[in-house]
This record gives sequence, structure tokens and C-alpha cells, in this order.
Amino acid sequence: MKIVFATNNEHKLSEIRQILGDRVEVLSLKDIGCDVDIPETGTTLEANALQKARYVYDHYHLSCFADDTGLEVEALGGAPGVYSARYAATKNPTAESHDSEANMTQLLQDLAENNNRKARFRTVIALILKKDVCPCGCTSIKQEYQFEGIVDGEITRERSGAEGFGYDPIFRPEGYDKTFAELGMEVKNTISHRARATQKLADFLQKV
Ligand code: IMP
Repeated sequence: MKIVFATNNEHKLSEIRQILGDRVEVLSLKDIGCDVDIPETGTTLEANALQKARYVYDHYHLSCFADDTGLEVEALGGAPGVYSARYAATKNPTAESHDSEANMTQLLQDLAENNNRKARFRTVIALILKKDVCPCGCTSIKQEYQFEGIVDGEITRERSGAEGFGYDPIFRPEGYDKTFAELGMEVKNTISHRARATQKLADFLQKV
């Protein structure tokens, strides 16, 4: 089975290929000749993941999936959530999107001395399968599915660790005394939000 993952992120591609195994051939956006920065204008992770998957399906008529992830902090009412990549930029117009240092500084500042540090990473994967209605493939329908992966934890008071990316230096998963950035990729990839959502996708694809 061939399926497009709406990303060019090499780390995400290799992680997903490892979990999905040989039965599924995962193509990147580059592999299908798509060099568009697919819009993500939704206000929820679900909407953004579906928007990206629908873009690929509508333009390329291929089975595909897309993901979106957010860090949801309880004391901040679930922020930064869907705006995790550009959290600092939502508060300060001169800040860049995808600036992890600025995002972490903003989050630590917003939580300040707040003792409720509970947070979770949540990943949503939207899958669109193309089903041929006619055996010759002249007519097909699309079927949409969603999978969610969550890892609970807390926001530390300062950065620790050098591995990973994004908010990893200030997120400590439940049951561990180290941040994602200290635990490293090997441990993180077995417990992360993305790994959990991907495993659900893999289990589903094994059955179709
Ligand atoms: P994306 O949907 O995977 O692009 O994630 C959106 C944003 O969430 C990223 O730009 C990061 O700031 C943050 N993020 C997503 N996954 C992780 C993670 O595993 N560790 C730390 N930050 C993450």
C-alpha cells in the first residue's frame, strides 16, 4: 500500500516509516512533487490536520495523512495548543514563528510562579483513504479518519537537556524525572504523543 504523509520533515518521515514497516510505502510531499507550504488556518489541531490531508487528496487524488501537534498547558486554558509553533509571535509581533527559544521564554514567563505546571502534548493525525468504487478505478470515494496521541506531563521551571526540539527542554513527561530533551530520542520515541498517534494509525492500516 502507498500513502502520502503531508510533510517533508525527515525526522517525522523516518519515525513513521519505522513504525509502519514494510507493508506501507510512505511518500513525502517532495516525492509527489508538491512544493507548496500547505495552509494551516484552523483553530484546532483536528481542523489543521484535516485541512492538510484534504489539500493533498484534492490535488493529487492519493490516500494520505497529515498531523498537527500542540502543547496544552492546563493553567493557560490549553494554550499554546494549536499555536504552539508561533506562541511568542502571537504575543509579540516582532517575534518569529517557529522560534523555539522565544516560545519557551514566553511560556515560562506566562506561567511564572504558578504552581499548576500540568501540561500535555497532543498529536492528531487525519487520514484520508481513497477507495475505488469501480474495480477499474474510474470512480472512487474518500474515507476520513482521525487518531489522537497524548502524553501527560508538566512544565519545568527552567530548561534542561539538549536533545530534541521545540518545547522538549521544559517538558517533563509523567513518570520520569527528566525532560524530553534529557531523555533523548530513543526514550521519547517510545512514549511520545506522536508515537502514540502513529501507533494507532499503524494498527488501523494493518487491518484495511
Ligand atoms: P507540528 O504540528 O508537529 O509542526 O508541531 C507544532 C509545534 O509544536 C512545533 O513547532 C513545536 O513547537 C511543538 N512540538 C510538536 N511536537 C513537539 C515535540 O515532540 N517536542 C517539543 N515540541 C513539540
